[in-house]
Amino acid sequence: MKFEELPQKIRELMEEFDRAGYELVVVGGAVRSFFAGEEPTDWDLSTSATPEEMLSLSKEKGIRTIPTGIQHGTLTWIVDGLHLEITTYRIEGTYEGYRRPLEMTFTKDLNRDLARRDFTMNAMAYDYKKGLLDPFGGRADFQKKILRAVGEPKIRLAEDALRSFRAVRFATRYGLVLDQKLQEALESEGEKVRHLSGERIKQELDQILEMEAWKSGVSGLLRFRLLRDWIPVWSHLYGEELINQPMAVSGRLTRFAALMLLSDAELEESDWALVRLRASKEERKRMRSLLTHDPRIKRPIQTAYEARRLVLSLGKPVLDPWLDLYRNWQGETEEARLIKQVAGDGSVLELKELAIDGRDLIEMGFCPGPQLGELLEICLDLVLQSPEKNTKEVLLATIKKRIG
Ligand code: ATP
Ligand code: MG
Repeated sequence: MKFEELPQKIRELMEEFDRAGYELVVVGGAVRSFFAGEEPTDWDLSTSATPEEMLSLSKEKGIRTIPTGIQHGTLTWIVDGLHLEITTYRIEGTYEGYRRPLEMTFTKDLNRDLARRDFTMNAMAYDYKKGLLDPFGGRADFQKKILRAVGEPKIRLAEDALRSFRAVRFATRYGLVLDQKLQEALESEGEKVRHLSGERIKQELDQILEMEAWKSGVSGLLRFRLLRDWIPVWSHLYGEELINQPMAVSGRLTRFAALMLLSDAELEESDWALVRLRASKEERKRMRSLLTHDPRIKRPIQTAYEARRLVLSLGKPVLDPWLDLYRNWQGETEEARLIKQVAGDGSVLELKELAIDGRDLIEMGFCPGPQLGELLEICLDLVLQSPEKNTKEVLLATIKKRIG
């Protein structure tokens, strides 16, 4: 994407702001993407107009807005279905809790707004009349593949501990080298990430685990001990070794499991890490399933029945991640092929998919109680051996035969 290809609607809005005497510029990721040759995923826009001035301008022009974060200066403008977040230039005061600025003031000076941003490549703006505004040399840094903090790195990382994670995330995403002083700051300030919330850490980690260079990303997190208090068991992993591990697994869940396996984590250690990171119950369940069916151990599976039993025990949602891990450790094997086949042909049935249920058994004269469950388990086993037997007639006849 090039500057000249700025969406027409954004350009028109810039002209409207300009006519009213305000600046409206593109900031953040979208400006970076002009150089990275990427399509911008979202547009962060900033303006010299205060929220009140924006509101009256939007009324005057008959453009709908939503007061998304009006107290922080953000108003969402809806232009032809496009949702554009526009934020007033601002300065942040002292920070508290290693994350949030205590106070915030609006300013008319773009340079002061850019100065509060984290890295030079994130502190550029694009003005449709003046072109690129780059007071900290972000463009040159980005082209030289250097990640540099705006201002004194130690101070910037201490103000907001999330920036340590962001540094590793951006470096991983674009293959950047950390500037020497930023490295030193990460070494001394990185441990402050322990003050962040589990959710926030997980959001950052998940993004890194989805990247192509995830192994070097994780090795960066380990090097600066950003995960020490969150996933202590990974501290045993060594960067170089990790990067050289052949791990052709994709997706954050699978990669998280692969790292747990590589670090020989106990199930509890992995689960505790996920609790700290505020993972959902479902995600914890999936991880437990992946780790208890240890893919480093070869499965002696020969029949379709055994394969179906395994799929059932794994749970369908983790089948693909598990196969990914299994192939990584065992290579392309016959049993993996068989497992994939039964999982795909609809022959792996769960108890609730049986052609009969408890009510059918009660109608036959059985009393409600644990016996019903046992009988249904017997039917399930039969159906896993011969899926074609999943009909009411066959199953009821089988039960009659067993008890008769
Ligand atoms: P992407 O959205 O692609 O992850 P981005 O650079 O747009 O990258 P956002 O989180 O959307 O990142 O933030 C937009 C901009 O706000 C950043 O480019 C940066 O200038 C600034 N910013 C965001 N978070 C921080 C922070 N913790 N400290 C300082 N500046 C920040
Ligand atoms: Mg963004």
